[in-house]
Amino acid sequence: MDSLDTATVEHLRQQYLSPSADTLRIYHDEPFVALRGEGAHLIDNQGRRFLDGTAQNLCISLGYGHPLTLEMVHRQVDAMMHCTSLFHHEMPTLYAQELVARMPPGDWVVHLVNSGAEAIDLAYAMARAATGNFEILSLRNGYHGAHFTALATTAFSLLRPPMPTAAGFVQVVNPDAYKGVFGPDITQYVAEVGRTIGSATCGRIAGMIIEPVQGFGGVVPMPEGYMTAALDIVRAAGGLAIIDEVQTGFGRMGSHYWGFEAHGVTPDIVVLGKGMGNGMPIAGVIARRDIATAFAETKFFNTYGSNPVAAASARSVLAAIEQENLQAHAAHMGDRALTGLRQLQTKHPLMGDVRGSGLLLGIELVNDRTTREPASAQAQAIQKRLRELGVIMVAGSINRNVLRFNPPYAIEAADIDHMLVSLDQALSGL
Ligand code: PMP
Repeated sequence: MDSLDTATVEHLRQQYLSPSADTLRIYHDEPFVALRGEGAHLIDNQGRRFLDGTAQNLCISLGYGHPLTLEMVHRQVDAMMHCTSLFHHEMPTLYAQELVARMPPGDWVVHLVNSGAEAIDLAYAMARAATGNFEILSLRNGYHGAHFTALATTAFSLLRPPMPTAAGFVQVVNPDAYKGVFGPDITQYVAEVGRTIGSATCGRIAGMIIEPVQGFGGVVPMPEGYMTAALDIVRAAGGLAIIDEVQTGFGRMGSHYWGFEAHGVTPDIVVLGKGMGNGMPIAGVIARRDIATAFAETKFFNTYGSNPVAAASARSVLAAIEQENLQAHAAHMGDRALTGLRQLQTKHPLMGDVRGSGLLLGIELVNDRTTREPASAQAQAIQKRLRELGVIMVAGSINRNVLRFNPPYAIEAADIDHMLVSLDQALSGL
């Protein structure tokens, strides 16, 4: 199939796709026309090859064209493309069984949907039904989706329209060891959870949602001890622990399969998405049976939830992580990258902080290591230069000064070294 040239795709896109962050090119000043992918690499319409440090917003978890994904998806496509949840089909059923087997011991059930925000909405509805309470806490600098209800817990002015969002959501100051308002000690951040419940809610809440690592917010890991302490306060006020594993789940952190495991947290509800389907649109909620049962009293249905092709792709993710030991691979590759980045940090004062684990890493660029003033313009210049050097990394966070590196698990040592050499070159050339 012949591919269109960049100018034509750009023209058609501007003409026919609704203006959005993407058509307005907030994240890429030069249009990037992707043609195909191979492992951890993306090939554009001019045949140029790039290391994809974004994994398409972490959706391509295993890698492009993973043989197991292709095999399982092809087989299901040939059999039938869709089967609504009003019929039984083995594919989502087996997936749910396999997913629950990867959770800590407990009576868990799975509800499959199509997108992260949809799963988030469902998680909130379940928490409300199960507790009989209404208000839900989230953290500043958190991202949980851009739809109406999910958006009420996404804390970025960039995404908020000048109109009301859903009611009953309150944001708490976020713990941030690098630049948080209370410094690196967690005491005041934890106390804020209780103060917020005491002042901005009726005192009884439905839950609190936390990302173990705030992804969109600039790869900000929850400090040690914060999640358990905060969630103890939440539970004392009648609330549930809702953990957003959309970015952190499925072994990406290397050290643990789930982000909450790294913090010793027992969740009540877990939200999944992105890399869950290795590129297929699928998301889900894992909840304790009693919570899901309370919610089952309300009427809920979504047409494409439990799609068997998406479930086949999601099953390939679980199987490949195990068969190919990909969590350990993520840990090795992440360690190699972190070691190299920390060496570069001694050479380039702009690299204020290097953080994360496994294949979920962030490099915060600052103009001054004492004031930690964001070096946003430089981050964007480096993003551009990296692309010329064949590496795609996007400058994220509210200040767009955190270079994010979260490639597919198909990444190899030579790719990590290529990223490090390219970053060194880009920083030296500024
Ligand atoms: N939670 C987290 C942590 C996310 O990063 C995202 C997407 N960036 C979402 C939820 C929402 O997912 P979706 O874009 O599929 O609605």
